[in-house]
Amino acid sequence: MAYDTDNIFAKILRGEAPCIKVYEDEHTLAFMDIMPQMDGHTLVIPKQEAETLYDLSETSALACMKTVQHVGKAVAKAMNFEGTTIFQHNGKAAGQTVPHFHFHILPGPIFGAKALKGHAVEFADTDELQAIADKIIACLD
Ligand code: AMP
Repeated sequence: MAYDTDNIFAKILRGEAPCIKVYEDEHTLAFMDIMPQMDGHTLVIPKQEAETLYDLSETSALACMKTVQHVGKAVAKAMNFEGTTIFQHNGKAAGQTVPHFHFHILPGPIFGAKALKGHAVEFADTDELQAIADKIIACLD
């Protein structure tokens, strides 16, 4: 299917919609999930117009992995949690709600986690998200 250039992450990349940024480089952008499933829920996206993992160029795939490593470590440190859960959806059928490839980084478990909120359900307070982003940024190597 053709890439939808009107999706919200494409708009964020073009500067047409806001985001709470934690990291950016030539090929990737990381920002806070606006409806976090737990505090610290962060997204990593490629700048390439790609809907799923299977549409990523090798350059974007490698760059995303590098950014997930870099930002993931900072998310865990900032949220005082020793691990992370990384996941991503490919296609509507698999539960993908934004058709631009992204990794989710969660500083906690998904399975068996009582405190886990629903997926893309409840908007967080922007000031609280910014405060968490500031902590993550301070923990980036
Ligand atoms: P997925 O269902 O895997 O496509 O995940 C999409 C994620 O994007 C969800 O966790 C949403 O909460 C999140 N999301 C949707 N719109 C925005 C936005 N404008 N800024 C940040 N995160 C968003």
